[in-house]
Amino acid sequence: MMENCVFCKIVAGEIPSSKVYEDEEAVVFRDIEPKAKIHLLCVPKQHFSSLSELNAARAALLGRMLETIGRHSGEWGLAEGYRLIVNQGAAAGQTVPHLHIHILGGQTLPWE
Ligand code: AMP
Ligand code: ZN
Repeated sequence: MMENCVFCKIVAGEIPSSKVYEDEEAVVFRDIEPKAKIHLLCVPKQHFSSLSELNAARAALLGRMLETIGRHSGEWGLAEGYRLIVNQGAAAGQTVPHLHIHILGGQTLPWE
């Protein structure tokens, strides 16, 4: 656990969140400032800041997180489709330096 990391605190239950899924290595909860009708965040329990810190083990973990999203998306109201986004770095809009996958859906999403 990383000091002062908001997502580590959510993983540890120190900050409340609206969780829709949890397993041994990841959690999925609702984004506090949704940018689509459904906006979830899939977060690994292990702290690392971003894609720039991937190694083989973390890439495999990310693969299992994608599998989890694919398997459970229907239960989360996303059967019609969804969009995944990972912001890498401040220039891309990353504000929380704990890797997370945005899951957006529940509506037709604009593309442009
Ligand atoms: P990013 O800008 O890609 O780093 O995404 C961070 C996301 O975390 C933003 O969409 C925020 O709305 C969301 N967020 C920040 N704090 C919380 C929180 N306590 N609970 C849920 N979502 C949060
Ligand atoms: Zn963290």
